[in-house]
Amino acid sequence: MEFNPFVKKYSKNVKRVALVYPNRYVGGISNLGMQYIYFAINELEGLICERFYADVFDGFRSLESGTPLNKFDLALFSLQYELDYFKAVEIAKKFSGLKIAGGPCVMINPLPIKKYFDAFFIGECEDYIQEIVKAKRIEDLEGIPGIYTGKEDKVKRIHSELGKHIEREIIGDGAYGRCFLLEIGRGCIRKCRFCVVRQIYSPPRWRKIEDLPEVKYVEKVAIIAPSPTDHPQFKEIVERYTSLGFQVSPSSIRADAVDEELLEILSRTSNSLTLAPETASEKLSEILQKNISFEDIISVAEMSKGRFEKIKLYYMIGLPGESFEDVLQILDQAEKVKKIVGRVEISVNPLIPKPHTPMQWLPFGGKVELRDGIDELRKKMKLIKKECRKRGIELQMESLKEFEVQAVLSRGEEDVSKIFERQKIDFEKYLGAIEIENTLPWDFIDHGYSKERLKKEYEKIWEILNSEAGNIK
Ligand code: SF4
Repeated sequence: MEFNPFVKKYSKNVKRVALVYPNRYVGGISNLGMQYIYFAINELEGLICERFYADVFDGFRSLESGTPLNKFDLALFSLQYELDYFKAVEIAKKFSGLKIAGGPCVMINPLPIKKYFDAFFIGECEDYIQEIVKAKRIEDLEGIPGIYTGKEDKVKRIHSELGKHIEREIIGDGAYGRCFLLEIGRGCIRKCRFCVVRQIYSPPRWRKIEDLPEVKYVEKVAIIAPSPTDHPQFKEIVERYTSLGFQVSPSSIRADAVDEELLEILSRTSNSLTLAPETASEKLSEILQKNISFEDIISVAEMSKGRFEKIKLYYMIGLPGESFEDVLQILDQAEKVKKIVGRVEISVNPLIPKPHTPMQWLPFGGKVELRDGIDELRKKMKLIKKECRKRGIELQMESLKEFEVQAVLSRGEEDVSKIFERQKIDFEKYLGAIEIENTLPWDFIDHGYSKERLKKEYEKIWEILNSEAGNIK
C-alpha cells in the first residue's frame, strides 16, 4: 500500500510517459532519482507519468492505472544494475515509442544495450528532465546536454547542484522499509581505487542541513549518500531526526568515522550495523586505497558490543595479488567480530574491474591469465562457504557466473548485445586484462577526470604488488 502517489487522470491529448524500473518494486521505490523524475514530470501541464516495475504486471502495465505500456508515448528507463538489462531489453523490445535510458550503468558504459534505445542520458537529469520529456522524435533530443544518441563522438556527463531536498515522496515498502529517503550527499571525497562513484558522481557535494526537509507521515528516515558519515554535519543530521522520534538508518557507515556517540545514537533505532571493509588484508587494503584497517573493524565491533545484535560486513575477492591466506584473513576477521558481538554476516563478491576506475585495465579474477583467475575464484568461494559453515558465520554470496555476466555487461561493446538474443558471446574478450595504451570503449564519456591520473594509480597498484613481492602470478 503506497502513500502519496500523484493522482493524475488521463485525458485526450495528454502525453503519457512511462517510467520503467526493470527490477522489483522494493528497489525502485527506494530510488530517489525515480521519485524525482516522477514528480517533475507530473508537475507539468499536458503530461502524465506512471511507473512500471518488473514485478508489477510483469513490467508491461503501469502501477497507477494498469495501463498497457504501448499506450504510452515515451518510456524512460532507470538502469541501476547491469543484470537488470535483461528485463529492460525485454520491455524495450515491445515498446514502439521513444525510449531513453539513464542511471549509473548508462553513465558507466551504455554500449551493450545501445541498439535497444533511441537515446541515453549520461548524468544526473534533474536540470533537463522537463526538456527531455517534451521530445517527440530523436531529433528533438539532439543538443540537450548529456544526451547520447550514438552519433556524438564525445558526451560530457552532467551533474546538478544539490539544492533544497524534495518535500514530497511516495512512501512504499522499499529496500529500507517504509521510510522517507533523505539524500544528504552525492559523490565521494574518498579515493577507493575500485569504486566508480568518485568518477561518475564527481564533484562530491553535500546538502546543507538547512536544505533538509521536515519529514511527516513516517517513522523512519533512511539517510542516503555514497559515504554518509563523511558529511561534515552527519552527527547533527542524525541527532536532528532521532530527537524528533524518527528511526534513522544510514545507507552505510565507514568504520574509521565511527565513535561511541554515533553508535549510541544509531543503536537507539537499529539492532544491526553494516560496514564495508572490502578486505581484511593490509596489503590489499593499500591496493584498494580503502584505508580501513583490520583493527578499525575490531574496534567498531568492541564499541558495538551490547549495542547491536549483529554486524554485517562486505568483502571483495579476486583482487590483484590476493592469496588464499588473504581470503582466510576475511574469515578470521569475521570470526573475531562474531566472538565480540554475537552474530556476524558477511557478503562476499568478486571484484568487477569497472570502467572509469584505476582498476579498469585489470582482468576479472585478478590474475594475468584469465582462466587461472576464474579457477582460483571458484576455489576461494568454495573455501569461504566451507569455513563459514565451520565457524558459524552467516554468508551471502551469489554465483560466480552471475558476476562474470555482470562484468561483461559493464565492460563490453555493442557485440555483447547478442547475449540478449540468446546467442553466444565471447566472455574472454571482455573479462581479460586490457592493454593500458588501448582506446577504451567507454572513453567517449567525459566524466571530467584525467585518464593520465587513472593510469598513474593503476601503475601504483603494480608498484605496491612488486614491493610486497606479491606479484600477480
Ligand atoms: S567505496 Fe565508498 S568510500 Fe570508497 S570511494 Fe566509493 S563511495 Fe567513497
